[in-house]
Amino acid sequence: MTDIIRLLPDSVANQIAAGEVIQRPASVLKELVENAIDAGATAIDIYLKDAGKTQVQVIDNGCGMSETDARMAFERHATSKIRKSEDIFSIHTLGFRGEALASIAAVAEVQVRSKRVGDELGTQVDIAATKVTGQALVQCPDGTTFTVKNLFYNVPVRRKFLKSDSTELNHILNEFKRIALAYEQVSLSISNNRTEIYRLPGTSLRQRIIHLFGNPIKQHLLNIETETTLVKVSGFITKPDYAKKSFGEQFFFANGRFIRHPYLHKAIVQAYAGILPPEYIPGYFIYLEVPPDSIDINIHPTKTEVKFEDEHSIYQILLSSVKQVLGKFNVVPSLDFETDNSIQIPVLHPDTKISTPQIAVDNGYNPFDTSESYRRQRERNNLQNWESLYTGFENENRQPDIFTNTPAAENEPAPAAANIHFQLKGKYILTPVKSGLMLIDQKRAHERILFEQYLTQMVNHSSASQQSLFPEAVELSPDELALWLELRDDFAVLGFDIRPGDGQKVNIHGNPGEMGSKNPGMVFRKLLDDFRHTETDLFESRRERLAALLAQESAIHYNQPLTVEEIGHLVEMLFTCATPNYSPAGKPVMHILKMEEIEGYF
Ligand code: ADP
Ligand code: MG
Repeated sequence: MTDIIRLLPDSVANQIAAGEVIQRPASVLKELVENAIDAGATAIDIYLKDAGKTQVQVIDNGCGMSETDARMAFERHATSKIRKSEDIFSIHTLGFRGEALASIAAVAEVQVRSKRVGDELGTQVDIAATKVTGQALVQCPDGTTFTVKNLFYNVPVRRKFLKSDSTELNHILNEFKRIALAYEQVSLSISNNRTEIYRLPGTSLRQRIIHLFGNPIKQHLLNIETETTLVKVSGFITKPDYAKKSFGEQFFFANGRFIRHPYLHKAIVQAYAGILPPEYIPGYFIYLEVPPDSIDINIHPTKTEVKFEDEHSIYQILLSSVKQVLGKFNVVPSLDFETDNSIQIPVLHPDTKISTPQIAVDNGYNPFDTSESYRRQRERNNLQNWESLYTGFENENRQPDIFTNTPAAENEPAPAAANIHFQLKGKYILTPVKSGLMLIDQKRAHERILFEQYLTQMVNHSSASQQSLFPEAVELSPDELALWLELRDDFAVLGFDIRPGDGQKVNIHGNPGEMGSKNPGMVFRKLLDDFRHTETDLFESRRERLAALLAQESAIHYNQPLTVEEIGHLVEMLFTCATPNYSPAGKPVMHILKMEEIEGYF
């Protein structure tokens, strides 16, 4: 018998190792910018092509590298940042594993140009798939420029795995924001395909937050400062009326690094309990300082998961400091609500529209887990949920496909128009059907109806646009503006007539006809926000996804009393839909309580 164990070729081993550090263009950006910061840069410019898939270029004015260092930097475990193993426990720099550049060079084409102050000439090194393809002395400014091209060009499976430009750009901007918020004194700029998205001067934290998230956040920031022996907490939380339904403005930093911490996130959410409807998430920018030996930052290769020694106490400290700040600014009602059994009275800005909370809260959802395996697992769970929904219906073999025609009750004729429909608790419509009692969720039903209307209109180019007499100016944050520019045609097809205005503003001249009395500016911003923060594979195109979001926004809400005629109309419209049994987001619209089930009660 021959021996069968062989060592992997270096190129393969490098690619495998790279997979741990470099998942997408955003990881390249993070590593390069962190290196620039470690090199003492005070100004960093980022130039992307195709959301970083074609190019990520990072230019810094940091300390630069010698000729040898520029070459050495690409070796695995080459680092200038630790010399002995004890150093690992007193890290003050961002990098220290010496793996990033080696990993990037294994899966892309990389060029570095670097010069130290005082050196006459700089060094240029070209490297692709771990092979050095060129090295030369060159004229270049002080500091370092890394150019990373064609990420995963030599690993087709990974390349294929990259998402659309808008999704990858979203990941990049998330990473950019984390760095920008951790290093407010460093000036930073970022552009994609020659469009500048942010240009941030070095400034105070408060100003940095405003530059990043736009002027509207200004009046909503509340300063938080608490110092205990265990932890020092500083930063900002936002007033409840600024809370949104989607994630995107929640940031924790521990000893200067961005971290994810679902447990501490709960502390903040709990502090807002009773003043925010449950599906709203408060924005926060919280900086925790703890003794370096009381935190383990090493439990995850990309270092965003951390473990504190005394998590439970930090939770309590955070909870009470946030509560205190909210109390001080008078945003908490004087009564401390029992959250689980009392009616929640949101204390909100008078202009803010809030919808009644939906009951379908997914407790298992972990917004901080962006790993692929978690996403897959959720998708599987969702599929199982979908499947189980069908068990109420006659046909067992139907596939849960929300886009093809899968009528809810194939053997169940639509409820007769003359039927008596009944609205329950402002939320459900009850109607007798052949096999029992049908329960319809009024909001989801309306979402489905609108969604299919929008789709038809988009196909026929017949979207009704309601022109306004006075265009509404809406101020956007820089990344909202960038997203709008990208989605402009899609918005137009839906019936939005939006034109660029001064600076960060756009003017809304017209909006889709079916929006009713909703404020177009608010709906528009909400759509951008939702689009940015929801990632889903449910839709075939972003147009469809936008249509689904618009349907969600425009649909009647819960607690909206409906007349008998309106209910009748809604039911009738629902059953003319191609897919009446699911909302555009894939949630069930209806359920039949079967006769046998009902009879079982008696
Ligand atoms: P690490 O950051 O963990 O040390 P990297 O692979 O990211 O590992 O970088 C390797 C080394 O290259 C760093 O330790 C540093 O000495 C050098 N280096 C990387 N980027 C820069 C930069 N922008 N300016 C100066 N030196 C750099
Ligand atoms: Mg590094």
